[in-house]
Amino acid sequence: MRAPTVPAGAAGLPTGRLADALGRPLRDLRISVTDRCNFRCGYCMSKEVFDKDYAYLPHSALLSFEEITRLARQFVAHGVGKIRLTGGEPLLRKNLERLVEQLATLRTPEGRAPDLTLTTNGSLLARKARALKEAGLDRLTVSLDSLDDAVFRRMNDVDFPVADVLAGIDAAQAAGFDRIKVNMVVKRGTNDHEVLPMARHFRGTGVTLRFIEYMDVGATNGWRMDEVLPSATLIARLQEQLPLVPLEASAPGETAARWGYADALGRHDAALGEVGVISSVTQAFCRECNRARLSTEGQLYLCLFATQGWDLRSLLRGGASDEAIAAAIAPIWQQRSDRYSELRSQLPPDAPTAGTGRRRVEMSYIGG
Ligand code: SF4
Repeated sequence: MRAPTVPAGAAGLPTGRLADALGRPLRDLRISVTDRCNFRCGYCMSKEVFDKDYAYLPHSALLSFEEITRLARQFVAHGVGKIRLTGGEPLLRKNLERLVEQLATLRTPEGRAPDLTLTTNGSLLARKARALKEAGLDRLTVSLDSLDDAVFRRMNDVDFPVADVLAGIDAAQAAGFDRIKVNMVVKRGTNDHEVLPMARHFRGTGVTLRFIEYMDVGATNGWRMDEVLPSATLIARLQEQLPLVPLEASAPGETAARWGYADALGRHDAALGEVGVISSVTQAFCRECNRARLSTEGQLYLCLFATQGWDLRSLLRGGASDEAIAAAIAPIWQQRSDRYSELRSQLPPDAPTAGTGRRRVEMSYIGG
């Protein structure tokens, strides 16, 4: 853990336009609100590691909603326009809608409310969707790796039924969430046979399905390159059954490449919707990466594959003013040069890691 230093004078005060060492702006803040999850997906929180003896963070270590909002306010002043709540499973954090209410009051330097989104495994969504919508949450992303109940129960490793996640998505649509995204991590030999059934299920429903290449996140998921299904192969497979046309990115720094379902004339049919592919392994998108990550206990990470964070909680709890916190964040972002996936893609396919040999932080701790 590194302690941030606060620059003297007006240096580091927010301008709404902070750029890192590679010229990438700070636009997206992902906030992990809990390191716990009720699923045990092997690629994220495998049972072997996250067992009953695993030492989760004590409640006192977690940032309170007020602390999170205070930090988020400084990030928004520096140019963040999108805030995503993650975990662990964020809906396990009690009364999360109160945090959403607080974050919904933030304003960018241009006076705009930041886009507020949340990623969830969907298990508690049926119960929570309405309260989240009323609190001001704009959008939702639901993780779902299979529609086949047996495969899904095996992948979440806690025997959770797929029907309950689908009921959560229905409840979210009924509560007024449109533009819902469903993220499917595709692991060759495990659930790649589910790509087509998933596409057929969500086509024309208003839900955008996104396929994520299985990644070597954290230090415990036993990742192997031969279990990655490259997005190009996946799109070719889909095209054989469901014609697609490429679409423009909807925002700079967007992680997913968009493909629209085509009509009989080969044009995008908006009523059928679209899919996305997130090619984190085969087509690294570090060059446009504008994301910062705040861990459950207030450590700032600059990359999903980071080995070390910056301790913002010590500033918060040490009595630093808002100005001092904002001034500490600026040089941390300005010095950022992380581009892990890009570096890894330059290594031979069988190389285990492009890291420095240090242990990478787990995804459940900093959010995916
Ligand atoms: S590897 Fe790091 S820098 Fe590259 S896109 Fe992912 S989070 Fe961003």
